[in-house]
Amino acid sequence: MPIDFDLTSEQKKLKYTAREFAQEVLRPASERADATTDPQDAFRAMKPVYAQAAALGFTTMFVPRQYGGGGSTNVDFLLAIEELCAVDPGFPTILLVNGLALMPLLLHGTDEQRTTWLHRATGDTSGEFLAGWVVSERGGTANFDHPSPQAGIQLVADRRRGGEYVLNGEKHWPCNAGGWDLHGADVNLCVVRTDRTTGGKGGLSAVLVERGTPGITYEAIDKMAHRTCQNVTMTFRDVRVPAENLLARGDGDLLINRNFTWSAPIAAIAAVAVARSAYDFALKWAKSYTGGGSGPIIQHQAVGHLLTDVAARIEAGRYLCWKAAHYMDRHPGEGHALGAMNKTFCGDTMQSVVFDCMRIVGVNALDRKFPMEKLYRESMVFPLYDAGNLAMQRRRAWGVIADIGFSPDLFVDGEPLPFTRSMEGFGTTSDASPP
Ligand SMILES: Cc1cc2nc3c(=O)[nH]c(=O)nc-3n(C[C@H](O)[C@H](O)[C@H](O)COP(=O)(O)OP(=O)(O)OC[C@H]3O[C@@H](n4cnc5c(N)ncnc54)[C@H](O)[C@@H]3O)c2cc1C
Repeated sequence: MPIDFDLTSEQKKLKYTAREFAQEVLRPASERADATTDPQDAFRAMKPVYAQAAALGFTTMFVPRQYGGGGSTNVDFLLAIEELCAVDPGFPTILLVNGLALMPLLLHGTDEQRTTWLHRATGDTSGEFLAGWVVSERGGTANFDHPSPQAGIQLVADRRRGGEYVLNGEKHWPCNAGGWDLHGADVNLCVVRTDRTTGGKGGLSAVLVERGTPGITYEAIDKMAHRTCQNVTMTFRDVRVPAENLLARGDGDLLINRNFTWSAPIAAIAAVAVARSAYDFALKWAKSYTGGGSGPIIQHQAVGHLLTDVAARIEAGRYLCWKAAHYMDRHPGEGHALGAMNKTFCGDTMQSVVFDCMRIVGVNALDRKFPMEKLYRESMVFPLYDAGNLAMQRRRAWGVIADIGFSPDLFVDGEPLPFTRSMEGFGTTSDASPP
């Protein structure tokens, strides 16, 4: 039997462990944090929950066993993430961003960088270790692979005599990066411009910036949803980083693309999870609420038909996530088009699923004593974050599909198509041709 959607007994155990944690530990804390006015207070309130998640192995479960992590497959990580996100999608974003900061070390880091930072993350016994993924900027992130050095990433890292790098500029939106106390995450993986004369392909690199490095200030962003994770504005003034902290020299663009491929099914399953929670509520509501009629509203064809559409879109979305994650398990570092399509499809579709669930519930969906209001706010994030759907994610899939070697059979047949620079830069210039 070549296609098998059954969960193993270990996967079911993982799923129900995550569900129990989400309902018993995460739910009460996230409800309080969501209602907290100050964004940094809201994030800090999640620290004890994070420590418990770390004790269960969730915070570094994706790190390979040889570095002390859980060595989970992408599919297994998705199973856990769906359960957490069904209760609160903000908190698991902290785990996702740990991955975005640490996983590039596997492909782009030196042995020493891998050993140091992956072991520090997995060996942390305090349950506090945070890693930040620092790429987005106020001027825009969508065109990180633009051919002009004046566009895209503008946090500059200049090499000085003696080999160290000096960073100047600003990042806007990175998650986790401020740490629990706004003095920095344990480590921040920052995408920087190391060449002021070259565009996005070739001009970018990444540096590991350790907590306590002088010259950085952090300010929390007050956002309408995902309030249990932290986003910051990060200002760099003459920040000195040793040369050995540099990685992916001139390959920052590839690192960004590979990262957004790894995270795509995770963000997609987060969207599915939120839609699932809206559906759960709408289904129960439809079976019990009469709307002043003689029976529950599910007996009305309009409601019943919409519920079946909702259920179908959620099922389709989930299996596309599993497929993308499975493809990436088979072909590590690949899956750029499938991942991007997975993220855009689920992010955009699930947002409309949540609204359809609100239509089923009716006006009471707006009452804040019910969960629909929060689910609606949370669902707005998915098309916008983790590389916005409208440009970045679709451009990534577009670049692959336009390649001469691409065939739709690749996905069905489970064959890889290596990602190359020629697939980057699509749509960054006004004539829409690849630079
Ligand atoms: C909860 C959360 C967590 C986040 N975590 C992180 C993190 O850990 N690290 C981090 O660095 N950032 C993080 N971000 C920031 C975020 O993921 C990105 O900044 C965002 O995805 C950028 O996408 P954008 O399309 O809006 O980019 P922008 O560059 O701001 O684009 C703005 C608009 O212009 C359009 N546009 C621009 N160029 C083009 C083009 N060439 N073609 C078509 N349309 C175009 C876009 O489609 C979009 O509509 C986070 C954000 C949130 C909300």
